[in-house]
Amino acid sequence: MTDENTNDQLTFQNPVDRFPSISPPKQDQPEPGLDEELEPKADRGEQSYRGTGRLEGRRALITGSDSGIGSAVAIAFAREGADVALSYLPEEEEDAQHVKSVIEDCGRRAFLFPGDLTDRDFCQQLVDQAVQALGGLDALVNNAGKQIAVEDIADLDDDQVTETFTTNIIAMFRVSRAALAHMPAGSTIVNTTSIQAYEPSPHLLDYASTKAAINNFTKGLAQQVAEKGIRVNAVAPGPIWTPLQVSDGQPKDALPEFGKSTPLGRAGQPTELAPAYVFLSSPESSYVLGETLNVNGGMPTP
Ligand code: NAD
Ligand code: MG
Repeated sequence: MTDENTNDQLTFQNPVDRFPSISPPKQDQPEPGLDEELEPKADRGEQSYRGTGRLEGRRALITGSDSGIGSAVAIAFAREGADVALSYLPEEEEDAQHVKSVIEDCGRRAFLFPGDLTDRDFCQQLVDQAVQALGGLDALVNNAGKQIAVEDIADLDDDQVTETFTTNIIAMFRVSRAALAHMPAGSTIVNTTSIQAYEPSPHLLDYASTKAAINNFTKGLAQQVAEKGIRVNAVAPGPIWTPLQVSDGQPKDALPEFGKSTPLGRAGQPTELAPAYVFLSSPESSYVLGETLNVNGGMPTP
C-alpha cells in the first residue's frame, strides 16, 4: 500500500460512492466460485486496508478465507499484526495462494489448510494443525458458508438442506468446540451470519435458516464462555460482491441489480466488512459479547 492511496478505510469520504454501484453481468461459476474469475473484480483490501496495530501478535484461524469476505478479513488481520491460518476447499487453491502472498507482503505468516468442513474429522484436524502452525490460537472467525438458491421447496432436496446446515452451522459447532480447547482468556470468536437471518429471501430457505441459527448460537455460546474471558460475536453482512453470489447463490437474473435496493444504493465490497471483524476481535471491544454487528448498507434490522 502506498501513501497516495486515498480510498483506505480511515479516510473521510462519502460512503455512497466510496465504491461504484456495480451492475454485474450475468455469469456462472461452478461451486465454490473463484475471486480470480469474478466480473467485475471485488475489493478485498489489498490496496486499501490500512492497519493500525489492533491485532498485534494475534494468532487467527479464518474459515472460507480464500475469497470474498473471509479473504478481506484475513488481509485486514495481517495488516493489523496477526498471523493467519486459512481454511478453504481444495478447488480454491489459486485464490488461497493470492491471499497468502498478500499476507506475507505485510510481513506476517500465512498457513494454508485446504479441506472440507462438512467432514467431521477435518474440523478437528484443521484446528489442531492451525494451533501447531501458529503456536497457539486466540482468534477464530467462522466464515465459511454455502448458499444455493432454489425457487421452490419442491425442488429443495434433502442433500442440499443437509449440506447447507452441515457447512454453515454444524461445522461451526465442531470448529468452535475444538478451538475453545486451546484458547486463552482474551481470545475471540466471530461468526458470519447474514441479513437473511431476519429477512429471509423466499429462494434461500435452507441458507437463511442456518443464518438465524448462527445468531442464536452466537448469543448462547457468548454467555457460556464469557467467564473464561472469551468473547463470541457475529457479523451480519448485507449484499456483498463475492464468488458466493455467482455460484448459484442468486438467481442469474438478479445479478445486475445485486445490492442496488439498499439505502446506500450499491452492493458492499468485501473489504468494507473487515473493520467489523477487526473491532470484534480486538481488545477494544472488551465489553461487547453476544452481539451481531450489521454491515449491510442500511437495511433495518431487529
Ligand atoms: P465466498 O464464496 O468467497 O466464501 C465462502 C467460502 O466458504 C468459500 O470461499 C469456501 O472456502 C468456504 N466453504 C464453503 N463450503 C465449504 C466446505 N464444505 N468446506 C470448507 N470451506 C467451505 O463468499 P462470501 O460471500 O465471502 O461468504 C462468506 C460468508 O459470508 C458466508 O458465511 C456467507 O454466508 C456470508 N454472507 C455473505 C453475503 C454476501 O452477500 N456475499 C451476505 C451475508 C452473509
Ligand atoms: Mg472461495
